[in-house]
Amino acid sequence: MAYDRNNIFARILRGELPCTKVYEDDYCLAFHDISPQAPVHVLVIPKAEYVDFYSFASQAPADMVAGYMAGISKTARILGVEADGFRLIANNGRDAGQIVDHLHFHICAGRDLGRMIAEE
Ligand code: 5GP
Repeated sequence: MAYDRNNIFARILRGELPCTKVYEDDYCLAFHDISPQAPVHVLVIPKAEYVDFYSFASQAPADMVAGYMAGISKTARILGVEADGFRLIANNGRDAGQIVDHLHFHICAGRDLGRMIAEE
């Protein structure tokens, strides 16, 4: 799938739409999910044009991959969830339920998150 520069997260990155920022550096922006599914629910997006995890991990330069991973880790630290635990989710494509076609990791935390995958 080609990257659409008008997706919601691209517009947040350009400052055209607001977000509640948690952390930002040269590689990533982290902000609260608009519809939280857990007491802590933050999205971390790379400052690069990749539709999903697969395209990012297979095509992005090594410094971007490392910088993005470090940004996710720093965000977890800022949120104070590294001790009790957190879940990272990167929905990749249709079957995973990906809605926004700009790579994002969800950081979910703040309670016992239960089973890994919801039952049908
Ligand atoms: P996906 O299913 O693509 O992995 O998740 C997309 C996430 O983006 C959802 O959890 C949804 O609530 C969140 N989201 C969608 N639009 C916006 C928005 O405009 N602002 C913020 N902060 N989150 C959004």
